[in-house]
Amino acid sequence: LTAVVIGAGLGGLLTAAQLSLKGYKVTVLERLSIIGGRFMNIEYQGYQLSTGALHMLPHGNRGPLAQMLQKLGANVTVIPSVPMATVRIPKNVAETDYKNGFMDIPHVEFKKHLAAKNKMMMVLLTLGYKIKLIRPKEARFKSWYSRYIQDDRIDRCADSFSGWALSTTADEVTTEEMFAIFDNVYKYGGPGIVVGGCKSIIDELVRIIEENGGSVQPKKEVTGLLMQEGVCTCVLAGGEEFHADLVVSDIGHKETMEICGSDVEKLDGYAAYAEKLKAVNPSAGLKICFAIDEPLIEHGGILLTPYTRRINGMNEVTNADPNLAPPGKHLIMAHQRTALDRLDFIEEEIDLGLEDLKDLFPGKKPEILMIQVHHGRWPVNRAFSGQDFGNKTPVSNLFIVGDGAKGRGGIEVEGIALGVENAMSDIAE
Ligand code: FAD
Repeated sequence: LTAVVIGAGLGGLLTAAQLSLKGYKVTVLERLSIIGGRFMNIEYQGYQLSTGALHMLPHGNRGPLAQMLQKLGANVTVIPSVPMATVRIPKNVAETDYKNGFMDIPHVEFKKHLAAKNKMMMVLLTLGYKIKLIRPKEARFKSWYSRYIQDDRIDRCADSFSGWALSTTADEVTTEEMFAIFDNVYKYGGPGIVVGGCKSIIDELVRIIEENGGSVQPKKEVTGLLMQEGVCTCVLAGGEEFHADLVVSDIGHKETMEICGSDVEKLDGYAAYAEKLKAVNPSAGLKICFAIDEPLIEHGGILLTPYTRRINGMNEVTNADPNLAPPGKHLIMAHQRTALDRLDFIEEEIDLGLEDLKDLFPGKKPEILMIQVHHGRWPVNRAFSGQDFGNKTPVSNLFIVGDGAKGRGGIEVEGIALGVENAMSDIAE
């Protein structure tokens, strides 16, 4: 059987590796001259920057992605982040920024720094969640907890976590999805940094695909899919035709439908599927990569920064793998969620992020290496967390993987791995 995978991002390559091990003859077609999509290194002056991800796996060496890579036989090392995260809070509880001093606290000690009444309420809510007494299906996360607890510090931290992990506010995620994310954090643990960066994973996946008879072809943009009686039989790319028994797309539901042509509109279930797709939005974000001669964060985990204007958090990846920067240099990647209605004012958003750096590291002189804006067709997430759409399409042998088809509660690439697992079950049906 032949399988064609559209797009050589992480989702496409994970699926291609699985299919090639199952005996499919796999061809991966990639529009760009580079492989890996938003999960690839960009080498810049000896620093390993990236096309998207911050070299971090949300559940480190125990999560769904690490487990999947291990089963595939990929030789990748992920260094667990200890502690998982620290939170930078102002020294004085009444302050709303960092100008008069701050301290970094382990995230597990966050409750200690709340007023007594709110501390008690948070303990009760956490307990209710853990024993599954509280499982609201309706409502957005912040709207839900605000019924029980009003606290500026909690609001800021919830937004900081959501902004960092999902590129959304805490009110753009459903409570159900946020609880599924917490479940996964308890189940799999905290993040980790990939030694060598994202590229190490991509290189291993390409190796596995090629060793199993598959091919990964850059500069092959898929422009059309030919259908016969509701089945996709052929993929068109770069003037060539690729026969396919199975087609897997890593470019998102909407973009895949665009290349399907009008034949797909006649299929059963298409109208309802297309209507539901209208509600899906990509999330946007801004990344500032900077370097300095001394360590600024004391660990390789996440520094959450809830009292900034824009930056949600950052990681100092060289604390886990010093080779991600030239000798003696430290590489830090800061992320800030960008509201979709602020994309037209992106210069202002960049300036606000740069102002944040001055408050976060007073007296220090970081060297800005690269600032990247991610939105539209190169977003942080192709679907806001919780808006993911499953892997099936109205075309019976066409499946979607990647970050528009993540598994439940899966943060970023962990969601991609969970989604690929679901897709493999759908394909086997
Ligand atoms: P993509 O990587 O977008 O792959 C799709 C591929 O399809 C691309 O290579 C594209 O060029 C190709 N393509 C598109 N159209 C066509 C066509 N017509 N024909 C052929 N090919 C086509 N996740 C984490 O887990 N940890 C992090 O630290 C992290 N940080 C992030 C920070 C930022 C700023 C961003 C932007 C993302 C971050 N993510 C992170 C998310 C993670 O990078 C993405 O979820 C993941 O890389 C998406 O992979 P994908 O395979 O779904 O899509």
